[in-house]
Amino acid sequence: MTKEELMKKAIELSKENVANGGGPFGAVIATKEGEIIATGVNRVTSSNDPTAHAEVNAIRAAAARLGTFNLAGNVIYTSCEPCPMCLGAIYWARLDKIYYGNTKEDAKHIGFDDSFIYDELALDAADRKLPSESLLSNEAIAAFQKWTATENKIEY
Ligand SMILES: [Zn+2]
Repeated sequence: MTKEELMKKAIELSKENVANGGGPFGAVIATKEGEIIATGVNRVTSSNDPTAHAEVNAIRAAAARLGTFNLAGNVIYTSCEPCPMCLGAIYWARLDKIYYGNTKEDAKHIGFDDSFIYDELALDAADRKLPSESLLSNEAIAAFQKWTATENKIEY
């Protein structure tokens, strides 16, 4: 499939998901040659899962299908520019490229505003609206020491 056909698929998924009572977001993960590996739609409300964005669901399905956590060599087509969570997930999945339809500004106009998260990320932790505090770091470090000392670990 061409990149336009793959984006049309992501858009079609986003429209179908609205018809099914979900959010207007769909995603497709495909090889660079244009073969679909997996798709995903937004299931935040239907599954009561705030992380069930289309891109995350597509990544989970693609990784399960390929039997690997590393999706390098593949690309994602998403009906909307990824939110910070999905962008992070796309980096972790090692996908090679993002194609998106709607922009995050388009999403903001219909009530899906993730720009505040992008704004928060640019701030020092102490200046964010979400407080975070280091606690028991002297105990937490034990797992890192154990990891470092482990010889046959699967690095990612
Ligand atoms: Zn997202």
